[in-house]
Amino acid sequence: MLLLNPKNPRLYSLDARSREIIEKTIAFFESKGKKQLKKDDFDRTWYADFLEFVKNERIFATLLTPSTYGQPESRWDTYRNCAFNEVLGFYGLCYWYTWQVSILGLGPVWMSPNEEAKKRAAALLEAGAIFAFGLSEKEHGADIYSTDMELTPESDGTYIARGDKYYIGNGNKASMVSTFGKFSGTSEYVFFAVDSQHPKFECVKNVVASQSYVAEFNLNGVPVTETDILSRGRDAWDSSLNTVNVGKYNLGWASIGMSTHAFYEALKHASNRRLYGMSVTDFPHVKRMFTDAYVRLLAMKLFALRAADYFRSASASDRRYLLYNPVVKMKVTTEGEKVIDLLWDVIAARGFEKDTYFEMAARDIRALPKLEGTVHVNIALIVKFMKNYFFFPAPYPEVPKRSDPADDTFFWHQGPASGLGKIRFHDYKTIYGSFDLPNVKLFFEQIASFTQMLVKATPTEEQSKDIDFLLAVGELFTLAVYAQLVLENARIYENEGMDPGTVDQTFEVFVRDFSKYALDLYSKPTATEAQMEFCQKMVRKPVSDPARTSRVWETIWGLKDLYEMNP
Ligand SMILES: Cc1cc2nc3c(=O)[nH]c(=O)nc-3n(C[C@H](O)[C@H](O)[C@H](O)COP(=O)(O)OP(=O)(O)OC[C@H]3O[C@@H](n4cnc5c(N)ncnc54)[C@H](O)[C@@H]3O)c2cc1C
Repeated sequence: MLLLNPKNPRLYSLDARSREIIEKTIAFFESKGKKQLKKDDFDRTWYADFLEFVKNERIFATLLTPSTYGQPESRWDTYRNCAFNEVLGFYGLCYWYTWQVSILGLGPVWMSPNEEAKKRAAALLEAGAIFAFGLSEKEHGADIYSTDMELTPESDGTYIARGDKYYIGNGNKASMVSTFGKFSGTSEYVFFAVDSQHPKFECVKNVVASQSYVAEFNLNGVPVTETDILSRGRDAWDSSLNTVNVGKYNLGWASIGMSTHAFYEALKHASNRRLYGMSVTDFPHVKRMFTDAYVRLLAMKLFALRAADYFRSASASDRRYLLYNPVVKMKVTTEGEKVIDLLWDVIAARGFEKDTYFEMAARDIRALPKLEGTVHVNIALIVKFMKNYFFFPAPYPEVPKRSDPADDTFFWHQGPASGLGKIRFHDYKTIYGSFDLPNVKLFFEQIASFTQMLVKATPTEEQSKDIDFLLAVGELFTLAVYAQLVLENARIYENEGMDPGTVDQTFEVFVRDFSKYALDLYSKPTATEAQMEFCQKMVRKPVSDPARTSRVWETIWGLKDLYEMNP
C-alpha cells in the first residue's frame, strides 16, 4: 500500500534512527489529538509544543545537518526527509512550513564556503534552533534582481545591514536568517546571516493570519562581520536559485500528506453516510470521484518519489532534476488541489465542519502552488527543457530506486544555475514500450500528436514570447513528463499496489487531462489552423473497462476504516 497510514507506517526501507523519528513524530501528533490540533489552528497558536518536541528529539539536527558537520546518523538524506515531509503535511501545513523554511534558510549556509557559519548552524541545530530564508521583498515579488536590501562596508572591515524583507517564515524566532541583498552602491549580490533576536532586527508583524509566523522585518543597521557572509556575487545569486531547487521539491510532499489525510477522512464519512436507503459511496459519480482522487494521489506520490531518485543521483553531468523538481512543485501541488476538490464535491457540507481535518486541508492546499515561484513561473522554466526532452534524448545509466541512507552532498555543489537548454534527458519512449495497457498506449499517441505539432506547426517566434500561449503548451509538456516518471515508478512499485489495472486507471485520468489541455491550447486566440488541427488529434476518449474500474474501487473500499486520527 503506497499511501501513508500512520497506524501502520511501513517504514521498512528506513534505518533505525530514521524510523524512530517518523514513529515519534506520528506519536506526537496522535497523542496531541485532532481536537487540540484544530483548537491550535483556530487560535493561531504558535507551535511551541512541536518545536520543543523537535528540539528534545534532535530531529532537525539529525535530518538537516550534512554528515560532515553533524553527530553520527546526521545526514541530508532526501528519502527519509520525504517521509518526514509527508507526515508533517499529513497533520497540518503549519508544522510542515516551519521545517520547510528552516530547510530554505539552511540552503545558503550549506552551499557556503564559510566553515565558521556552517559549524554555527550545526551547533544551533543541535540546540533545537529554527532557520529562515530572507529572499522576498514586498515591492519586488518574484523579481529578485531588484532586491534593495543593502550591506554597507565599514572602515574596520565589518558591514552594516539595512533594508526590509517580507513574507519570511520563522522570521520571529530564527537563529540564522539567510538574507539576500546587494553591497551598497554596487550590483554585487550577497547572502549573509543575521539573528532574528538581534536588537536591531525589527520583526514588524506577521503578514498572515495563521499559526505560522510569516514575517515582515526590517534590518535597522544590524552589524555583520565576515563570519556572517555566506556568499557573494554570482555564488550568492546561484545559491538563491539552488536553494529554491531543494526547497521547491518539498512542496509536493506537503500536498501529498494533506491530500492523504483528507482522503481517509472523506472516505470514512461518505462510506458511513446513508441517503435514500443506500451508502453515498454507491452513487456512480461518487465512486468515480473517489477513484479519480485515489489514482491522482497515487500518481502524485509515485512522481515525487521518482523525482527524488533523479535528484539524489544528480551530478554536474546529470542535471535532469532541474526539470523534474519544478514539475513536483507545480504539478504535484496542483494535483493536490484537484484531489481535495473531488473529495469536497463528495462530502459537501461536511467539508466545512470545524471538527474535521478536511476543513483545514481545503484552505491550506491552495498555498502550495503559489509559493516558491507560482505555477506560471515554474511552467515558464519547464518549457525551456521541451526541445531536448522530446527531440534530443541522450543515453544515461539507469537510475535505481534511491532509498539508501546516503548524504545528498551534491545539493550544496549544484554549480551555476544556468545552461538549462543544454540539459539532455533519457528517451521518454522507452518506458512506454514496457507497458501493454490501452490507456497508456492512447496517452502515448496523444504525445505523438503533440510532438508532431511541435515539428510541423511549430509555435512562432511571437507565440514563444506570449507567456499565456506558452503556459498552455507547458501544461501538455508537463503532463508528458509527469506521466513518464509515474510509469517508471509504477514498474518499481509494481509489488506495492501498482498492478496493471491501477496503472491503466491512472492513465485514463491522464488521457482525459491531456484532452482538456489540448482544448485549452486550441482555444488560444493566436493558435493557428494547423496547430488547432493537431490539438483536435490530441483530444481522445479514454478506454473504459468497468471490470478494471471495479477492481480499483474494491481497493479503495478496503481503505475506508483504515485510519482515523485520535480524538
Ligand atoms: C505564506 C507565505 C510564505 C512565504 N514564505 C517565504 C519565505 O520564507 N521566504 C521568502 O523569501 N519568501 C516567502 N514567500 C514569498 C513567496 O515565495 C512569493 O510570494 C513568491 O515568490 C511570488 O511572489 P509574489 O506572490 O509577490 O508574486 P509576484 O512576484 O507579484 O507575481 C505576480 C504575478 O506575476 C507572475 N510572474 C512573475 N514572474 C514571472 C515569470 N518570470 N514568469 C511568468 N510569470 C511571472 C506570477 O506568476 C504572478 O502571477 C512566502 C509567501 C507566502 C504567502
